[in-house]
Amino acid sequence: MGPLTSYIDKFAEESPLRGVLERAGVGIKLVSLDGTILDSNEKFAEMVGRTRAEIAGESVWALSHSDDRAAEQAMIERLRDGEIGSYTIEKRHLRADGRSFWTRVTSSLVRDPVSALPYCVAIVEDVDARVRAQLDLEEREIRLRTIFETAPDSIIVIDESGTILNFSRSAEVLFGYDAGEVLGQNASVLMPAPYRDGHDGYIRRYLATGERRIIGIGRIVVGQRRDGSVFPMELAVGEMPLRGRHLFTGFIRDVSERRDTEKRLQDLQTELLHVGRVSAMAQLASALAHEVNQPLTAIGNYLQAARRFMAVSDVAPGDRVVEALDKAFAQTERAGQVVRTMRAFVKKGDGARRPEVLNTAIEEACALAMAGLADLGVRLSLDLAHGLPDVLIDKVPVQQVVVNLVRNAAEAMRDSERRELKIRDWLTANKRVAVEICDTGPGLAPEVSAQLFQPFVTTKASGMGMGLSICRSIVNSHGGSIRAEALAEGGTRFIFDLPVVEEASE
Ligand code: ADP
Repeated sequence: MGPLTSYIDKFAEESPLRGVLERAGVGIKLVSLDGTILDSNEKFAEMVGRTRAEIAGESVWALSHSDDRAAEQAMIERLRDGEIGSYTIEKRHLRADGRSFWTRVTSSLVRDPVSALPYCVAIVEDVDARVRAQLDLEEREIRLRTIFETAPDSIIVIDESGTILNFSRSAEVLFGYDAGEVLGQNASVLMPAPYRDGHDGYIRRYLATGERRIIGIGRIVVGQRRDGSVFPMELAVGEMPLRGRHLFTGFIRDVSERRDTEKRLQDLQTELLHVGRVSAMAQLASALAHEVNQPLTAIGNYLQAARRFMAVSDVAPGDRVVEALDKAFAQTERAGQVVRTMRAFVKKGDGARRPEVLNTAIEEACALAMAGLADLGVRLSLDLAHGLPDVLIDKVPVQQVVVNLVRNAAEAMRDSERRELKIRDWLTANKRVAVEICDTGPGLAPEVSAQLFQPFVTTKASGMGMGLSICRSIVNSHGGSIRAEALAEGGTRFIFDLPVVEEASE
């Protein structure tokens, strides 16, 4: 053994605790103030997986985790400056194989009795298991707390008497209470009568009989906010047996919005169907009126000609044939009037125009159209421009245009390998918002592409061929235009535009 390694022997020899030091379950190291390990006991050598000879002369930092160095260095400096006589810290020591383990180090300053040089005697305890368990617990606690504070669902923990123990951040937002106001209160404050009165009894019954109504099941119940307003909420309850007690965790989601959305979509769908039917009828009526008007005019002309022939021959004015011709002519006039009234009525059918956010209208229409097309496996992407001005439209018919175009595109892609639907909109140079709907379908069939927007043009076995003609009449009636183009990479794109709301002039 070199001169350095004799320190511990000397230290031990001179100490009344000599035998204890070697046999003690703790490591001991002697360290000079510049950080060189002068000597150590067998236990310390065993802890760090080296021999005493290897350790003697090493720097303490070579055996320490670098993250813990700054804290210990500061302590050593205070020790050296005489500010403190000893310190205790928890730090990681390094083993020869590079693994680190947590230790509790208590270091005191002593003076060599012969040379009077100061050095530190450090007692090193292995506390790895405890510290790791504690760190683990802290980490789990942080993780849980983070979930608790950031979960979009509200989380509330109650005990078996119904007392609120935890109230998450989003529960505060949902119910309008600060956690401090409800902690320690009975959970029944969060529900309106008559549910309020049944709650405690319900927990008691569950604990006594195991009868489940909500626990482990989840269902829609009614909640009450601080301001007294009530709302439907989806509640799922988990049970936490804890050392003989029962805690319950409630996960709550406000479904009033979801219900609203569902209802809105339903309303919209009914409205669209209705508008669809009305406008299909209008189209039909208009086409019919046009078709009927011509033969009717011709009949009238023939009747008048026949009447003139009668006049120049010697038929008496009161003749019954002449009379019949006159009456027939009057009837054609009347029929013509009916047709003209019908056309005028159809033309007039413009609904109320209002400034609308087109993007919202498009999103709703897409949600609706896609809901019915889920099984077609179409990938829809919306690339809607930010900050578009409002458009002046009658919203429902315009949404019907979008629904029609989306449905057509999705149906066209039924047998395509790629089924991608892209919807984009942008502001054009002439103050319109253009909407583009691109698909990756087979493109337009040549027999329809020339008269695509005419009524009764279809390639579908059960198609009416009314969709696009209705789309065009809706867009045109808004002062916009619609067209279709083949895409170079295959597929079709439809573009239509709508006028934006003119800003009020100052
Ligand atoms: P319908 O859907 O009843 O046939 P439409 O007027 O909506 O009536 O469509 C007319 C025709 O236009 C369709 O039958 C179809 O051949 C063609 N078409 C419409 N959209 C597309 C599209 N995105 N890709 C290919 N063909 C289309």
